[in-house]
Amino acid sequence: PPGRKVLIVYAHQDPRSFNGSLKSIAEEELRKQGCSVTISDLYAMNFEPRATRSDIADCLLNPEEFNYGVEMWEAYKRGGLSSDLVEEQEKVQEADLLIFQFPLYWFSMPAIMKGWMDRVLVQGFAHEFPNCYDSGLLKNKLALFSFTTGGSREMYSKGSINGDIRYLLWPIQHGIMHFCGVKLLAPHICFAPEYVPEEKRREMLAAWAQRLKTLWKEEPIDCSPEWYFK
Ligand code: FAD
Ligand code: ZN
Repeated sequence: PPGRKVLIVYAHQDPRSFNGSLKSIAEEELRKQGCSVTISDLYAMNFEPRATRSDIADCLLNPEEFNYGVEMWEAYKRGGLSSDLVEEQEKVQEADLLIFQFPLYWFSMPAIMKGWMDRVLVQGFAHEFPNCYDSGLLKNKLALFSFTTGGSREMYSKGSINGDIRYLLWPIQHGIMHFCGVKLLAPHICFAPEYVPEEKRREMLAAWAQRLKTLWKEEPIDCSPEWYFK
């Protein structure tokens, strides 16, 4: 609906890729609906994935013995984070929905996107014990993991060689997003775009465009162990 704000965090090196096409479809469809869409194109931004001392722009509490988590928490509270992180946190704060678009790398997200999680979702901003899971600081936001695989749907079914695709969603959906209070829409998975015929690729892209049309009517999943491991 008009006025909704969406942040697409996108990790692919090439705009002509299948992931690039999925990202463009979401951007186009959501804008057509009147949503405002912001894109963090991580490779194009040359986004720094490493969690280092440089993430604290002013001075360290304890330069002798560096504790990244503690330093980031304190830096966040006093407004001392590096500017690239402040920018990403502003985008997250603004957004009603976060869409993560990426190719599956080693049963997970590419390092550049994991680095975004490590560096942006700082304690004090995204969570602050006991404010985690349903009371995480980013509650009232939605997230959707949209990704592609090399393996086929059959290879990611329960009992087959890779196991159920849901097993690998546990750390990223529950361990990261739910931990920060974000509710999850069902993931959108395009299996093996490199290995299917052109016709099938077009179908997969059309299905994504179709899903986006009624996305705002969807209920979040029940992000509990049962959803993943039942
Ligand atoms: P692309 O190769 O870009 O796309 C496939 C085809 O679609 C291309 O021919 C492209 O031209 C075409 N295309 C693009 N846009 C359109 C369009 N609009 N219409 C029609 N066709 C289009 N896979 C796993 O399953 N599990 C893993 O653990 C895993 N780990 C990996 C680790 C690494 C380090 C790497 C590099 C890969 C890994 N993979 C894994 C494989 C990876 O997930 C796939 O290669 C990736 O998901 C494919 O997505 P893509 O966007 O790069 O595809
Ligand atoms: Zn959960």
